[in-house]
Amino acid sequence: MAVTIKDIRTICTAPEGINLLVVKVETSEPGLYGLGCGTFAYRYLAVKTVVDEYLKPLLVGRDVSQIEELWQLMNQNGYWRNGGIENNAISGVDMALWDIKGKMAGMPLYQLFGGKVREAVPVYRHADGRDLQDLCDNIQKYVNIGVKTIRCQCGGYGGGTYSAAPAGTPAGAPKGVYLDAKTYIKNTVKMFDFVRGRFGDSIDLVHDVHERIAPSDAVQLARELEPYHLKFLEDPVSIEQTQWLARIREASSTPIAEGELFNNPQEWQYPIANRLIDYIRCHLSQIGGITPARKLQIFAEQFGVRTAWHGPGDMSPVAHAANVHIDLAAQNFGVQEWSGIEPPNFVIQKLSGPHGALLEVFPGLPEYKDGYVYPNDNPGLGVDINEAEAIKYPCNPEVVTWTQTRKMDGSLQTP
Ligand code: MG
Repeated sequence: MAVTIKDIRTICTAPEGINLLVVKVETSEPGLYGLGCGTFAYRYLAVKTVVDEYLKPLLVGRDVSQIEELWQLMNQNGYWRNGGIENNAISGVDMALWDIKGKMAGMPLYQLFGGKVREAVPVYRHADGRDLQDLCDNIQKYVNIGVKTIRCQCGGYGGGTYSAAPAGTPAGAPKGVYLDAKTYIKNTVKMFDFVRGRFGDSIDLVHDVHERIAPSDAVQLARELEPYHLKFLEDPVSIEQTQWLARIREASSTPIAEGELFNNPQEWQYPIANRLIDYIRCHLSQIGGITPARKLQIFAEQFGVRTAWHGPGDMSPVAHAANVHIDLAAQNFGVQEWSGIEPPNFVIQKLSGPHGALLEVFPGLPEYKDGYVYPNDNPGLGVDINEAEAIKYPCNPEVVTWTQTRKMDGSLQTP
């Protein structure tokens, strides 16, 4: 007799002060359930509504084994498709169904994707600093624990923090995260000069533009960073301006990673098929979960484009595990962004929640060791949720401010 979906629940929790949304799919088989990530940190209540009010009534009673059928059903049911809120809701269910599939098979998910081609996943970490010396000190802390690839930023993503308009802006300009593109480009080149001077070629370096400058400025930056041999330059243009990737390619040999904000196949098909990017770095829940991510990974492999999935703090450990399971079995894997739990006694980022709370809420989070992340070998995704712990950390629905990035004339810039 088929195992069917008995119930679907959403669990919202913020153990580190970042809103996370996890979907729990319970089945007709006692004790058999799956977990999926539907975290859209700044719109989590909307995702919750889609899951609770629309996907649950659509799916209860259906056969859990038919992941592809159910993914298509969820994707097409609302008629309009490919929106971020919808995709995160779908992802929550989709990952949970894969988790259930692995548990039914008695295998970790990477086995269902063809088995390991590597024993663990090399990761890159994010280093920032108040000034160049502080940045280098933070890079050194990561080097000391074996990290081989570091993303270097100075003063956030080229802007300060959310505050009053600085000098040089028009009278009456609103509060925001202000960025002057010229200064940012100059400082970024200076930063890599300093970092290469201190560390030589002993580490790989990454930089995230975060879509915060105009496309023609991104062309200039990619060109000026050429001497520093970056592993890649991350999201140099906004998702609305990906035609500019061809111009960056013509102008510079700096490798390009793009796609953190991609939502649908129309956005990645052209850059991959025309080899305009070196790394595809989608956010798994934003594109609808493991089902579309596996298709994308295999598509990219045909064109020699490698994966570097988004792995920030604003996704749950369930999604980090999903990244790692795909990475382990992907021939065209490049590197994995990692923001997971640090080894004991290692604190570099200021967390708003108690250190280690994430692990208490999500036992089974893949483990970092000497530059690599290892999943556990439990069936499915290998990550569980402690609901009694999760409830201690309520989410915060306040309006987000860091996304209010502004140019020096006071107008908004993509964040
Ligand atoms: Mg990024």
